[in-house]
Amino acid sequence: MLRKMDFGDYDLIITLFTLKEGKITVIAKSAKKSTKRFGGILELFSALNVVYSTGRRKGLPVLQEATLKYPFSTIRTSMLKTAYASYWAQLINEWMESGQKQVEIYELFQYILRKLDSCQTSEAALSILFQMKFITLSGLAPNLGQCSVCHIEVEKIKETRVQFDFAKGGILCDGCASKTSRKTFLSKGIIKQLLWIEKGDLVKAVRARFSSDALKEGSEFLETFVPYHLGKEPRSLKFLQQIRKW
Ligand SMILES: [Zn+2]
Repeated sequence: MLRKMDFGDYDLIITLFTLKEGKITVIAKSAKKSTKRFGGILELFSALNVVYSTGRRKGLPVLQEATLKYPFSTIRTSMLKTAYASYWAQLINEWMESGQKQVEIYELFQYILRKLDSCQTSEAALSILFQMKFITLSGLAPNLGQCSVCHIEVEKIKETRVQFDFAKGGILCDGCASKTSRKTFLSKGIIKQLLWIEKGDLVKAVRARFSSDALKEGSEFLETFVPYHLGKEPRSLKFLQQIRKW
């Protein structure tokens, strides 16, 4: 479940990210009035098996049945975990078109939520993994392997901190560096780690160790890069940044 909103006194409007039909929004009738109606399982981020009907009339599909697959309840007991999961859910919600099947992103989200719920990996590291894989699967991976203009390999760039140009979506060598557009600087260490995550297997990537500096640098970069491509700053990200203490 990506999103939950009250609708009148009785109903809830729920946005689900489904395996078979991508993002869909349904109405859960009487779910607000009585938690018994759906057994109290309609909670944010929980993984559900659902049955819904579209009917013939216009309007939202109606949720008929829901059973719990994974509650992910630990996430909701922590404000920080909830803030991270809300940010990821908002990225999916804003980015995905309704009714478009996205199996790889579905599996990524479920895997990362499971890790977040199990408390074995730091929230910030999971967020770097999620954002990096999410933008790669969306076809918007940053170009970190070579200069975006002359294509010299990153290993051959002499500077220890490499310029990243947001408009070009990639790194620039010193010779091609731009003076005008929006940019930041990335250490070669974090560039290497992000490239490794982009190309590598998720299960291995979860075991990767980040130094606290790398966590900060990677988070700052992705939390600028991703909203830049989304075209807006998600509200959930602002909240996350307010409550997070490095
Ligand atoms: Zn260049």
